Amino acid sequence: MLITSPNQNYVQGGVITLRCPACRQRGTFDPWPNVPDVIADSGVHLGQRRCPNPACRAHVFAVWSGADRVVMVSYPAERIDFDTTDVPPEVTATLEEAITCHAVGAFRAAAIMVRRSLEALCEDRQATGANLKERIRSLGSKVMIPSELLDALDDLRLLGNDAAHVESKAYNNIGQAEVEAGIAVAKEVLKAVYQYASLLRQLRSSKKP
Ligand SMILES: [Zn+2]
Repeated sequence: MLITSPNQNYVQGGVITLRCPACRQRGTFDPWPNVPDVIADSGVHLGQRRCPNPACRAHVFAVWSGADRVVMVSYPAERIDFDTTDVPPEVTATLEEAITCHAVGAFRAAAIMVRRSLEALCEDRQATGANLKERIRSLGSKVMIPSELLDALDDLRLLGNDAAHVESKAYNNIGQAEVEAGIAVAKEVLKAVYQYASLLRQLRSSKKP
């Protein structure tokens, strides 16, 4: 087995190392007693596992390759974390939908929803500009967004300038890595716009008189 990233989900000795879709902790999932794995004709393995966290114990169904033991699918699917504190419902729902698309491997759909969540955010904050990148830049003049982050937005194809972006060919080649970068950037921008202010309030109210 070739481990290509620290987040890789893999099977060793029947135990699956996985980030739990329920409690979101990374753990080693043991088989259920008396429930043997299925080995399909294709060589793919299918099995039932249980979260080791005593407070969680979520039941997960996983499919992995018999050859390299890398987990291909799990149900429920693992989801990227997203702190929704103080984020308006429309923006939350859109980014949640992007995360759902990402979890099931629908990366182009996820990219479109990441873009929509940023559009919804700009609309909520009445940020103006000829295109989405300019609108996000204009947000940067109202709230604290690190300038390095704003510069990095230029590298994200899913933010492409094209007004007809849904038809744009830029979406055809968008894969997991770019969607994950896009979701990470969206979360940082949301933090800057909606969450720093409440953190500052918290800090101020805890200040000694
Ligand atoms: Zn769990």
